[in-house]
Amino acid sequence: MKAILLQEHGGPEKLIFSEFETPHPGPGEVQVNLKAAALNRLDLWTRNGYPGLKIVYPYILGGDGAGVVTAIGEGVTRFAIGDRVVINGTLSCGMCDACLAGEDNLCRVGGVLGETAVRGTYAEYIVLPERQLLKIPDHLSFEDAAAASLVFMTAYHSLITKGRLKPGETVLVLGAGGGANTAYIQLAKLIGATVYVVGSSDEKLAKAEELGADFTINRHAEDWGKAVFQMTEKRGVDVVVDNVGQATWASSLRALARGGRMLVVGNTSGYEIRIDSRYIFGKHVSIIGSSMAPQADFRRVMGLLFARKVRPVVGAVLPLEEASKAHEILEQGEVFGKIVLTC
Ligand code: ZN
Repeated sequence: MKAILLQEHGGPEKLIFSEFETPHPGPGEVQVNLKAAALNRLDLWTRNGYPGLKIVYPYILGGDGAGVVTAIGEGVTRFAIGDRVVINGTLSCGMCDACLAGEDNLCRVGGVLGETAVRGTYAEYIVLPERQLLKIPDHLSFEDAAAASLVFMTAYHSLITKGRLKPGETVLVLGAGGGANTAYIQLAKLIGATVYVVGSSDEKLAKAEELGADFTINRHAEDWGKAVFQMTEKRGVDVVVDNVGQATWASSLRALARGGRMLVVGNTSGYEIRIDSRYIFGKHVSIIGSSMAPQADFRRVMGLLFARKVRPVVGAVLPLEEASKAHEILEQGEVFGKIVLTC
């Protein structure tokens, strides 16, 4: 099969379009002919490498994908050849205490597809246990399904299930153009919250408004922390979605109202942060860390996608062989929404 292979860590040039052995399904497994794979920031971290990362070369990146079932292993009951499916990239064993409790994103032997021992979706074929797949309706394109999966499950689980966002509350989303942020904005609006978005350009913020953002702040034009304080009449917001980390953490904490919740869902600017603990107890702030989603939330949010209540934002589509270029585009940060590779 055709695949993008990583033979060593490094820059985008390390992604090599090559031939690789086609995987075949064992018992309980399904082979999917991938039609689309979406990029995520974690693909960049895995490509660059970090301490503790355990992957086997040649490795294949990619946690998001959609395609057509081309073979099924013994005992597979829920899928047939020809089914159109989307991949749930939250890997789990299905048997441990966390998995049995329905918290499979906490599975200790799990992890994220394309970041663990399991090779990912930058390929023509993939084989996964059937529980990692979900059928998609005919009206949904493979590109949209792949683009939606990881970011929408992440946003749903952190904002709705763990963050317990309620109608009438206020949410601040840091960043406008990232795929996850486009999901947070839409889900918060769907719940009936008021959404503030901080972004780096008027162009991106205009697009955030199209997705439902009520108030937008250009961080190059004004001090966004002060702006949020003023726009909320010195109250602050109920929930902050911070996937920036080091550069924004202090201001995010200050932007919270009493009893507010801080969703820590990434760290694009760096992972070391300083906390003024007075804000935590004095303002009754909860800090909520979250990554990926359990099966139940994946299915719930995919249901919203299938029913057209939310939509993925695809900013660029490139053929699989141009994965290096796609990584360069993601690193430049100028695309609004997801970058998708097609096979
Ligand atoms: Zn498990």
